[in-house]
Amino acid sequence: MLMVRVAEDELDSQIRSLLLPSPGDGVYARTALFERVIEGLTTFINRQRGPETLILSFPPVMSRSQLERSGYLHSFPHLLGGVSCLEGDEAEVHALVEQGDWVDELSATDLVLSPAACYPVYPMAASGGPIPTKGLLFDVASDCFRRESTHEIGRFQSFRMREFVCIGTPEQVLEFRTEWMCRAQRLAQVLGLSYRIAPATDPFFGRAGRLAAMSQLEQSLKFELLIPLRSEGETTACMSFNYHLEHFSSAWNLVTENGAKAHTGCVAFGPDRLALALFKTHGLDLGKWPAEVRGNLSL
Ligand code: AMP
Ligand code: ZN
Repeated sequence: MLMVRVAEDELDSQIRSLLLPSPGDGVYARTALFERVIEGLTTFINRQRGPETLILSFPPVMSRSQLERSGYLHSFPHLLGGVSCLEGDEAEVHALVEQGDWVDELSATDLVLSPAACYPVYPMAASGGPIPTKGLLFDVASDCFRRESTHEIGRFQSFRMREFVCIGTPEQVLEFRTEWMCRAQRLAQVLGLSYRIAPATDPFFGRAGRLAAMSQLEQSLKFELLIPLRSEGETTACMSFNYHLEHFSSAWNLVTENGAKAHTGCVAFGPDRLALALFKTHGLDLGKWPAEVRGNLSL
């Protein structure tokens, strides 16, 4: 027990030198050293991108109505954050602020903070007509927000997400996910990280979805790559491998060229957590990281 405490304290102080706390819990200023590793991870992930992949970088906000239509409020409403603004012309808004109680006057806008990078992809793909026979691949990135209720190491409110998304037939999506689950393990190995893959206890559609259909299939909709981050016994999800079945196709009417409902899946990386795992494993001095790891991250 004492050993674990010491290790955690050490990790705490390491992280304090990489991520500077702000007044908001789970919100940090990232240091240059931390960002060097994030850049290395970005380049490393870029190299994994398949051919004919559409690359999109999304802003940290997205359409509220699109997120509603995607079913997010049925699964994770407790994590959602919205964008609220003061309504009126400039003079009216100034007057409101001067009254002092401006926070009570905020109104929700048509924007929310993106809780995951892939949500805007499905309506975008649907607007392009039927999904071609060979399927569609996307590489997307976004700053994400989740109103997490705890803020232990690695659980941010504001963090980055990078995803590869596949839209096509069930076979194409399942093959994409299976291949990624193998590849992710090789990637963790060449970065010198300890890991294990496990089915997620909190599937993509949230608890309500899980209770609605406890079938064997549903049980394997989500897997995660877990890395011991806080202590040896305590793992943190650093990647997830998701199969959404027809969830997004039903919401957006995504069809294949033969008229069948398309299936979708995504593989998500959490670069902030991966960077923490790298620092925890290899230390704060990049010069002392194993040559293979430095080479892979172009450091
Ligand atoms: P999920 O959609 O929950 O599977 O999340 C995808 C990936 O984003 C996870 O595997 C994590 O690497 C990362 N992630 C999710 N939530 C957080 C968080 N609160 N702080 C940092 N990274 C996160
Ligand atoms: Zn996704």
